[in-house]
Amino acid sequence: MKKLLKGIGKTVITVFFCLVFSCKLYAQSAYPYAIQAYISYKQDTIALTHCYFGDVIHKTVLSDETIVIAHGIIISTGKTKVVHIPPGATIIDCTGKTVLPGYVLLHEHMFYPDASISPYYIHYKQLPVSFPRLYFACGVTTARTAGSVEPYSDLSLKKEIDAHQIIGPTLYVTAPYMEGAGGFAPQMHEITTTEEAKRFVNFWADEGFTSFKAYMNLNRAVLKAAIDAAHARGLKITGHLCAVTYREAAEMGIDQLEHGFFAATDFIPGKGEDACVSELNPFKHINPRGKEIKDLINILVKNKVILTSTLAVFEGLCKQDTIPKQQAFDAMSPDTRDMYLKYYSHEKSADMDSAMTKELVMEKEFAGAGGLLTAGTDPTGNGNVLAGYGSLRAIELLTKAGFTAIEAIRIATYNGAVALQAQSTIGSLEVGKHADMVVIDGNVADNINNIEKVQFVFKDGVGFNAQKILQQLKGQVGKF
Ligand SMILES: [Zn+2]
Repeated sequence: MKKLLKGIGKTVITVFFCLVFSCKLYAQSAYPYAIQAYISYKQDTIALTHCYFGDVIHKTVLSDETIVIAHGIIISTGKTKVVHIPPGATIIDCTGKTVLPGYVLLHEHMFYPDASISPYYIHYKQLPVSFPRLYFACGVTTARTAGSVEPYSDLSLKKEIDAHQIIGPTLYVTAPYMEGAGGFAPQMHEITTTEEAKRFVNFWADEGFTSFKAYMNLNRAVLKAAIDAAHARGLKITGHLCAVTYREAAEMGIDQLEHGFFAATDFIPGKGEDACVSELNPFKHINPRGKEIKDLINILVKNKVILTSTLAVFEGLCKQDTIPKQQAFDAMSPDTRDMYLKYYSHEKSADMDSAMTKELVMEKEFAGAGGLLTAGTDPTGNGNVLAGYGSLRAIELLTKAGFTAIEAIRIATYNGAVALQAQSTIGSLEVGKHADMVVIDGNVADNINNIEKVQFVFKDGVGFNAQKILQQLKGQVGKF
C-alpha cells in the first residue's frame, strides 16, 4: 500500500511537471498533451486548396494551386482544377494565403545575451523553451545551430524535438565554438594547437555533433587542422573568421563562411598574418562591384564555399530603421527589454550603414556569380534580433539586396537544404518531400513583409497554430 501511494505521489508530481514543462510522460503518444493544444491539423490526408504557391525551384509564386499531403509527405501539387483530392481528405481553403516551404536557416542559436548580469561581462543564456518555439512559430522548420554554448542542452533539444516532445525546428547541431587565444567570450573554448583542434573535433563528433564552427581568433594552422579533422569524419565546418581571411580559409577547404562578407578581413589594410583586426566597416576601401571583391567571389565559388547571409544582426548596428518590431518587444521579458534599451540600443554607427550598403551589393554579386547563398538569424548581437522574429527580418532584408521575394524565400529554404545536403527531403514544396510548410496571410509576391503574418506551420504534415504559440510566449523571451 505504502509503495502504491508512493507510486501515485510520484505520478502526480510527474504530471504536474509535465503540464508545466511539457516533458516526457506522454512519450508513448505522438505529441504530448501540452503540445496538442497548439495543433490545428493532424489528419492523415489534408488538401490545401486555392493557395498562392511558393515555387522556390522555379522562383515564382503560382496562384490557385492545391497541395495534398498524406502521412506527412507531399503527394501532389498543381492547379486546383486538376489536382485529385482523395475522398475523406480534410480541406483547408487557402484563398488569399501563400504556402511556402518551411524555412531552413543556418545561423541559429538557442542562446541570447543574458540580461541578468552586467552586459559588460559577455555572457549568453540558453533559452531552451522560448527559442525553439519562436523559431517554429515564425516558420523555421529546420535550423543549424551555428556554434553552441550549452552543447548538451542543444543535443537534448534535438532529441526531444525529433521525438515530438517539444515544439521546435529539426536541429542540425553544431559543436561548441572553436576560438583561438584572445577571444571576447568566456564561454568559448580557446584552442591554440593543432593537436588540440583534432582532439576537440573528434570528441564532439563522438558526442553527436554534425558540424563545427571556427571563431574569430583561430589562426591558420589550427583552422587547417580543424578543417582536416572535421572532413576526416565526413563533417562540415563553417567559420565566423577574423584572424584568417576568407581567401586563406577557402584555399584551406573550409565549407562555409558566416555573416556574408562582414567577417572578411581580406580588405583591411595592414592586417598582419593571423592577426584579428575587426572593423565595423571592413569594406571602407573597396568598391562593392570592383575587382578585389570579384576576385574573392571567384575564389569562394571555385572552392564551393557556401556563404550565410545574416543581415538582421547587422541591421541592429545601423543608424537607420533598426528598432525591433513591436511584436519582438512584446515577446521580451521586462529585464531583457531593459537590457536592450539601456545598453544595446545605443550601439549604432554610421560606419555600419555604409558597410551594410556595400554588403547588400556583394551578397547579390556572390549569388549572381553562382555562389550558394544561404540565410541565418544569429539571435545574439546587440539584442534586437530574436529567434523567429529576427529570422523573418533576415529574409526580408535580402530583398533590399535586390532579390525578389521568392528569391529571398529560396535562399532561406532550398539553398539551406542544399547546404545541409537535405534537399531530397526538405527545402521546397515538391511531391515526395516532407510536408514542412508555412501558411501566411496574403501573397508573398506582393509584399515580402507578408511573411510576418504566419498562420500555420506544418511539420511532417502536422499543422500548428502559429499565433497561439507566439501568444503564449509574450513577455517570456529571456527568462527561459
Ligand atoms: Zn552566431
